Amino acid sequence: MKKFLAIILIIISNNLVAQKITIHCGQLIDVKAGQVLKEMTIEVDGNKIINISKGYLAAGNSKLINLKNKTVMPGLIDSHVHLESETNPNRYMETFTYNPADYAFQSVVFAERTLMIGFTTVRDLGGSGVNISLRNAINKKLIKGPRIVTAGKSIATTGGHADPTNGYRRDLMGDPGAAAGVINGDNEARHAVRQRYKEGSDLIKITASGGVLSVAKSGENPQFTENEIRAIVETAKDYGFKVAAHCHGAEAMKRAVRAGVHSIEHGTLMDEEVMKLMKEHGTYYVPTITAGKAVADSAKKPGYYPDLVTPKALAIGPKIQNTFARAYKEGVKIAFGTDAGVYAHGKNWLEFVYMHEVGMPAMETIQSATVSAADLLGVTDIVGSIEKGKLADIIAVDGDPIKEIQAMGRVRFVMKDGVVYKNE
Ligand SMILES: [Zn+2]
Repeated sequence: MKKFLAIILIIISNNLVAQKITIHCGQLIDVKAGQVLKEMTIEVDGNKIINISKGYLAAGNSKLINLKNKTVMPGLIDSHVHLESETNPNRYMETFTYNPADYAFQSVVFAERTLMIGFTTVRDLGGSGVNISLRNAINKKLIKGPRIVTAGKSIATTGGHADPTNGYRRDLMGDPGAAAGVINGDNEARHAVRQRYKEGSDLIKITASGGVLSVAKSGENPQFTENEIRAIVETAKDYGFKVAAHCHGAEAMKRAVRAGVHSIEHGTLMDEEVMKLMKEHGTYYVPTITAGKAVADSAKKPGYYPDLVTPKALAIGPKIQNTFARAYKEGVKIAFGTDAGVYAHGKNWLEFVYMHEVGMPAMETIQSATVSAADLLGVTDIVGSIEKGKLADIIAVDGDPIKEIQAMGRVRFVMKDGVVYKNE
C-alpha cells in the first residue's frame, strides 16, 4: 500500500511540477544595463526565470536549449497594435459585412503571427471589444498569442476619430453615446470610462485629435475639450487605468499632456512646446513610424482608401519618422509601438529599422520595446527584462542586432510564460 501511494505521489508531482529549462545564450542582451553579455545561462522553472549566470551551466535534469549561436533578449513589447483587423482595400465595407465572430477568428491568426515574430506582450489600442475576449482566450491558453493589455473600445467624441459610425449614411449614423465610446461633455466622459471597466478593458484609449483612417475631413484637429480629457484621466485613475491619447495635431497633444495622459500615440505634428510639456509631465511618445509609412504607400494605390482618407494618409503618414527623430533628440521618453493592423501584422520589427535609421542606437530601440514599453504598460514587475523572478518571456534572433538592426526580423526562438512557441 505504501509503495502504491509513493508511485501515485510521484506521478502527481511529475505532472504538477513544470519542467525546468536551461538556456545557453551565445549573446544575451541586458536591456537594463544596455549591455551585450557573452556566453550566459538562463534557468527557467515553470513560467519564471530562476537564475542567470555567466558561462554555460550544465543542464543536469532540466531540458537544455542551445542558443549559443543566437542573440537572446527579453520578449518584445509593442505598445500600439490593433489585433482585431488588418488593412485591406475592402476594410471599410467590413463594418457592414462582418459579424463579431469574423473579427474574432481573424484576430486569432494575427495574435499568433505577432507572437511568432517575438512580441510576447502587446497593448491593443482599440477595436470592437473582441480584443477583450482575445486577451482572455490567450490567458486561458486556448489559443497562441502575446499577453494583451487592451483598451477595448477607444473613446471618441461625436464625428471624431473612432466614432464607429463616421462616414455612414445619415439614417445609419444614429447617435452612439458613451456606452459605445462616443462622448460629449465631462459626465459622458466618466460614463465611457466606467463602461470600459464594466467590459473588462485594462486601460483607456482616447482619440484626442482627428485621425488618418477615419472617414472625416481633418486628420489633426482637436476633438476633445481639455476638461473632457481631465474627466477621463481622473476617472481612469479611480479604476487603475492609464490613458493613451491618439494625436496628430499639436493643440490636441497640449490638451492631452496637460490633462495627464500617459502616452501620446503618433504625435505627428508635435512642436517644441509639446515636447517640453511631455518632458515636464513624463509623458511617453509612441511613434508608430511603420504605420505612417504604410498608409502613405497604400494611399498611392487608386481606390485603396475612401476619398476623404487618401489626402490625409499622403500628408500625415510620411512625417512621423522625422517627428520621432526630433523627439528622440529632444529627450522625450520613447516607448516602441507600431499601430500593427494599420499595416500587415507580422512586420512590427520594421519599427526598429526606422527608429535606428534616423538616429536611435540599436540598443536603445530594443530598450524602447522592453524596459520602456513595460514601464508604459505598467508591467515592469513581471516582464520587460530577463531577471530572476520575472516571467520567462525570452526570444532569440539570428545575428547581432546591435551591429545589424535587420536581425530583429530574424526571430528564431520564442518563449512566453515559460512555454516554447518557436525553436528553429
Ligand atoms: Zn492605432
